[in-house]
Amino acid sequence: MQSQIIELSIIVPMYNEAESCGAFFDAVTPILESCVESFEIICVNDGSRDDTLAKLVMHNQKDPRIKIANLSRNFGKEAAMSAGIDLASGRAVIPMDADLQDPPELLPDMIEAWKNGAQVVLAKRADRPSDSKLKRITSRWFYKVFANLAKPTIPADVGDYRLMDRVVVDALKRLPEKTRFMKGLFAWVGYNQVVVEYTRPERHAGSTSFNYWKLWNFALDGLVSFSAVPLKVWSYFGVFVSFGAIGYLLFLIIRTFVFGVDVPGYASTLSVILLFNGILLISLGVQGEYVARIFAEVKNRPVYLINELVGFEQSEQAERPKPTDIPSIDNPKLPDA
Ligand code: UDP
Ligand code: MG
Repeated sequence: MQSQIIELSIIVPMYNEAESCGAFFDAVTPILESCVESFEIICVNDGSRDDTLAKLVMHNQKDPRIKIANLSRNFGKEAAMSAGIDLASGRAVIPMDADLQDPPELLPDMIEAWKNGAQVVLAKRADRPSDSKLKRITSRWFYKVFANLAKPTIPADVGDYRLMDRVVVDALKRLPEKTRFMKGLFAWVGYNQVVVEYTRPERHAGSTSFNYWKLWNFALDGLVSFSAVPLKVWSYFGVFVSFGAIGYLLFLIIRTFVFGVDVPGYASTLSVILLFNGILLISLGVQGEYVARIFAEVKNRPVYLINELVGFEQSEQAERPKPTDIPSIDNPKLPDA
């Protein structure tokens, strides 16, 4: 059992999931036992305020395949998932939500597709009756806008629930950015993909921690990290407006020569000033979004901090990449992928 190669790592970010985690292990463990040789379930406790950690420690004592990474505070789901991905040692890795909204019944199909040669197996939500109408509509818009503006197309209705081969995970670990929009990063690395479909069920217990403000910021993170179009569009807009202004100026000059001077148009002048000040502020704000993210990258802070690890072997822990040295091309210590 000691340093045997683990076939599959499940990564579960957990934020206030004390009510869900028991049911999660009960559902997932027997399924995994039936379809892989060996597995680990890495639970990343993302600064929960309830007794998630105590529950996890209890589960770890009963089943050492359940391992715990306790983050030093709440870093957000994307960071928690990055922590899990860095810690995973399986030949394949599957991130899952703790609330059973990523149905474990799909695991055998995903694993089979992987064994048949797929490097990425995407779980696509064919139907999501558990989400509100507004959430479905806004999410559809997001995928549309993203598809038109950003570089790697992220497949619509595919969440983080997916199987990734070790090759893909190692590639993912080479992406050094601090803004971890995982869906985008997953899509960016590519590799050959297979899709399995499912219906997204209701949350098992507790309530979602993503409100619309969080989702908006999440969408913004995704767009700004993967598209420079919002940044570049202003110069074209500026050229368009300038040509319009020159044309209008010529028209005014000619009209003055032909018909003489008249000074009407207070309202139209004011509305043009207000309109263009608004547009200027928006363009400045868009640049601010990019500058803020450059700022975050330049500060180069770690994406997450681990307070303690439970259930990882000692030697394994020493080998693990520390959060400060997230693998990068210019880090010679780490294996080249
Ligand atoms: N989560 C997390 N950190 C956070 C928020 C959420 O690790 O700051 C985890 C949460 O415990 C769950 C998963 O991310 O396992 C998905 O969260 P949730 O169910 O609230 O999101 P939804 O399904 O509504 O998108
Ligand atoms: Mg959920």
